[in-house]
Amino acid sequence: MNAQKRRAIYETLQSLNPHPTTELEYTTPFELLIAVILSAQATDVSVNKAMRQMFPVANTPKAILALGEDSVAQYIKTIGLYRTKAKNVIATCRILLDKHHGEVPADREALEALPGVGRKTASVVLNTAFGHPTIAVDTHIFRVANRTGLAPGKDVRAVEAALEKLTPAEFRHDAHHWLILHGRYVCRARLPECWHCAIEPLCEFKSKTPAPTQ
Ligand code: SF4
Repeated sequence: MNAQKRRAIYETLQSLNPHPTTELEYTTPFELLIAVILSAQATDVSVNKAMRQMFPVANTPKAILALGEDSVAQYIKTIGLYRTKAKNVIATCRILLDKHHGEVPADREALEALPGVGRKTASVVLNTAFGHPTIAVDTHIFRVANRTGLAPGKDVRAVEAALEKLTPAEFRHDAHHWLILHGRYVCRARLPECWHCAIEPLCEFKSKTPAPTQ
């Protein structure tokens, strides 16, 4: 894909959604961090539902530690892998208090040292809570980048590197959310909805889905 087309894709996504953000509900960097940890292999909807119950009771490292692992597990038991996640949330809170004065560090290395926080989670927190131009690649972005030809790569790290290299600077901060939302709602895994896709004329996917017949 040439640079002109790539720019046109971002311009189109930007015109449809000038200020994209996460669908996870949060009011502080700490709430966002916890929500992103919980969202691994779970839907944002399920995390929001659970956190609407837990955050009003405990939304700081100190309060969650006071709550304890069993209570956290109760709040999040509708979310996949909840026992491991409850353990990670408690351990993360402890480290935040011990090493970071109870604050979320705006630093990749420190974030990735937290239990339950990998490269993708760190990138989302850096981007969404701290405004860094990181592009976390999840399954949706991996698919969209490869299908469209925007930034092809054989694995998530290759796609991340390609996106970071090829995305014009002014679109870098919002690229993550534009691409994730596009993959979630239009360029779906099983059946991309090409017939109403705003970037269809720019997309280089060879097997576009025709409009369904009535
Ligand atoms: S045209 Fe189809 S394959 Fe291309 S981005 Fe749109 S939905 Fe995805």
